[in-house]
Amino acid sequence: MPTTLSDELFNPLDLEDALEAAFDEGGDEAGVALLERALADPRAGGDPALADYLDVLTEAQADLERYDDAIATAYRLIDVEPGERAAELSWIAQLHARNGDAESATAILYELRAEHQAGAPVSRDYLHALELAMTMADHVGDQFTAVEWLADDLRTGMAARVDFSLIAALDGHRRRIEQEAALVDKALDAETARYIEAGRRTTVPQAKVNPAATADGLPYLPEAEFAQARERGLVGGEHADHRREIELALQALPSGKIRVWPVEVGEVVAFAEATGLDPASPGTWRDLIEDPDEGGIAWPPNRNDDCWCGTGRKYKKCCAAPAFLAQLP
Ligand SMILES: [Zn+2]
Repeated sequence: MPTTLSDELFNPLDLEDALEAAFDEGGDEAGVALLERALADPRAGGDPALADYLDVLTEAQADLERYDDAIATAYRLIDVEPGERAAELSWIAQLHARNGDAESATAILYELRAEHQAGAPVSRDYLHALELAMTMADHVGDQFTAVEWLADDLRTGMAARVDFSLIAALDGHRRRIEQEAALVDKALDAETARYIEAGRRTTVPQAKVNPAATADGLPYLPEAEFAQARERGLVGGEHADHRREIELALQALPSGKIRVWPVEVGEVVAFAEATGLDPASPGTWRDLIEDPDEGGIAWPPNRNDDCWCGTGRKYKKCCAAPAFLAQLP
C-alpha cells in the first residue's frame, strides 16, 4: 500500500473505486484500513461525503467486531453531522452492548429515552424510541424495560392520535418481545388492536394507495408507475407517502419471509378490465401477484444496501430513516 493516498481520492472525496479494489484484493480488513486512512487524512475534512463514509466505516468496524473503533467513529460522525446525534447514540449504545458493556449501553439508552419523553406527545419520534427499546431487548437483554417503554409509547401515541400504522409498527415489536420474555398485557393488546382496526377502516378508503396487508408482503408502485396511477385517478397523495405507508406496514408484519412486489399500472388496468375488479383497490393489486414467493424484492434490505423502493439511496438513509418515517401525512 502506498504511503500517501492519491490526491484523486479527495476534493471531492470519492473512495468508491479505491474501496472496491481494496475489498477485492484484501477483503474487509483492507477496505476498512483504506477507509480509516482516507478519513483520517486532513484532505477529507469538511467534505460533504465525509459523514456517509464515516457511517460505512463504523458499520464495517462493527462487522469486524472492533467495537471500540466503531464507537469512536460514530462519535466523530456526530461531530460532523450533529443532526444525527440521537440516531448515532442509539447505534453507539448497541455497539457497547454487543461489546459486552451493558452498563454503558444502558446509560445511553436511558438518557435518550428521557430526551424522547421530554418532547410533546404528537411530535415525538416514536420510531427512534422503538429502536431504543429494541436495543434494550435484543442487545442488552432487558426485555422487561423494553416492553415498559413500548407500552408507554403506545398509550401516549394513541392518546395523541398518531397514525395507526405507527402504532402497528410499535405494537408488533411489543408483542414479539413480550412473547420472548413470557410477558402478557391483554388490556393493551385489546386497546391497540381496536386502534389499528379503526385506523385501517377509516384510512384505507381515503388513501387509496394503502395496500392490503398480507402475511407475506405488499404490492408497491415505483415512482413512474405511481405518477401514471395518479393521472388515471387510481391513487392520491405523494409518492413519498406511498413509500412511507408501505415501509410502516412492512415493519408491522410478523417477521418471516417478507417481500415487496413492484406493480405496473398497465398490468393493473388490464387485469382489472379482464376480471371486473376495481383497479383502485389494493386487493386487486395483490391479486395480480402470481407467485408471491418468486417475484419481488426481499425485505428488509441490509441497512447499507440500496433501498427496496428504487431511489438508489441506502436503505437506512431512505425508507428506514427515522426522520422520513416520522413525517406522517
Ligand atoms: Zn426507500
